[in-house]
Amino acid sequence: MEIHTDVVIAGCGVAGLYSALKLPADRQIVIITKSDARSSDSFLAQGGICVLRDEEDYDSYFEDTLRAGHYENRKESVDIMIRESRSVICDLVEYGVRFEQENGEFVYTREGAHSRPRILFHEDITGEEITSSLLKRVRERPNITLYEYTTMTDIIEKDGVCRGIVAEKTPDACAGDGVLESKAQGNMAGEERIRCEIYAEDTILATGGIGGRYQHSTNYPHLTGDAIDIAKNHGIRLEHLDYVQIHPTTLYSDKPGRRFLISESVRGEGAVLYNEKKERFVDELLPRDVVTKAIHEQMEEEGTKHVWLSMAPIPTEKIRKHFPHIYEHCLEEGYDVTKECIPVVPAQHYFMGGIWVDSDSHTSMEGLYAVGETSCNGVHGANRLASNSLLESLVFSGRAAADIVRRSKDC
Ligand SMILES: Cc1cc2nc3c(=O)[nH]c(=O)nc-3n(C[C@H](O)[C@H](O)[C@H](O)COP(=O)(O)OP(=O)(O)OC[C@H]3O[C@@H](n4cnc5c(N)ncnc54)[C@H](O)[C@@H]3O)c2cc1C
Repeated sequence: MEIHTDVVIAGCGVAGLYSALKLPADRQIVIITKSDARSSDSFLAQGGICVLRDEEDYDSYFEDTLRAGHYENRKESVDIMIRESRSVICDLVEYGVRFEQENGEFVYTREGAHSRPRILFHEDITGEEITSSLLKRVRERPNITLYEYTTMTDIIEKDGVCRGIVAEKTPDACAGDGVLESKAQGNMAGEERIRCEIYAEDTILATGGIGGRYQHSTNYPHLTGDAIDIAKNHGIRLEHLDYVQIHPTTLYSDKPGRRFLISESVRGEGAVLYNEKKERFVDELLPRDVVTKAIHEQMEEEGTKHVWLSMAPIPTEKIRKHFPHIYEHCLEEGYDVTKECIPVVPAQHYFMGGIWVDSDSHTSMEGLYAVGETSCNGVHGANRLASNSLLESLVFSGRAAADIVRRSKDC
């Protein structure tokens, strides 16, 4: 089976969806996703999305991002992300995304390693609010066809140029644990084994992170870094494959499967970490890698499988309003966060490395772009600052779309 289109995109998290929406309506676009359309890490994002609040915040935001990244960040990329943040937020609001407001003004929250509140949020389900709005817009666009349960297995390379991708029906074992979407515009899942070549002028890889390769991760298990393997096989440049972020606080559980994240903004709003003796042992607002190291050392010293997180410093009213889903989930697991500590443990969370891209998200292969968590544009350096990844994914997927348009005009 063969499909011919203008642009093919593998992955429908924020990066894949936003790049599709930023392409002109007269381009034919095919998006494929390995699972159902809602099973992406983008839907899971809790804490929020950073934005440059005002010109005065520029230096401090820039420095916070670099300090968290151990000064290994590509400065040009950081500058681009910060400078373009407000226009991305305006786009999102136009697409229907609702951020917390008071008296008509945005409310900003804070997370670890941020020197001031600059994070927009929607309760504790910011990712779902953003991604479902983008998905809704994509489904309204007649020029975009979305195939669910369709896995990219290779790219099509001709004379060193990318000409599209090879896709197959997703193996059952890789189907995510989300709700099955009934409104797929196209679906290869009905038939037993279909191999499809999707030819395109431009190809965008937006396949997310690598958490599915880990035993303990906050990521969906079907996110296994497929684009990284494919890129490696084609000699495409990769960068910092060893830069993996471990999130300090996921709800401890003996059960197998994805770990439930306790957002950093909970600590940003005052929650504290305790050891077994209920003593504090670290400044909770230090960068993620520093807090993670302190927790691991504490667990080793005490011979425990977790430490404790207390949300007691946060008023109950605020917990219910700002963190309703964390509150509910913990209740389901038997913990009332308004009354007791919860056990937390670090788990794999984010991949800073990936397919090397330039500041327009172009890879080292002609005709091939990479965006979102699977790419490495150097924004995060060696360690990501909290709530920078949704923003980075959106800014640089928008730039990929703009570059595709620019290059086609030049031809
Ligand atoms: C629990 C959690 C909380 C988070 N909270 C925040 C937060 O508050 N703020 C923030 O900025 N960031 C947060 N992040 C990080 C952020 O959500 C992700 O980095 C970002 O959403 C990545 O977007 P993406 O589009 O690159 O990938 P994803 O959203 O993961 O999408 C990847 C897509 O690729 C598809 N795919 C994968 N492999 C294939 C293949 N072989 N063929 C076809 N399709 C494929 C998947 O099905 C999926 O559609 C959080 C992450 C997690 C896990």
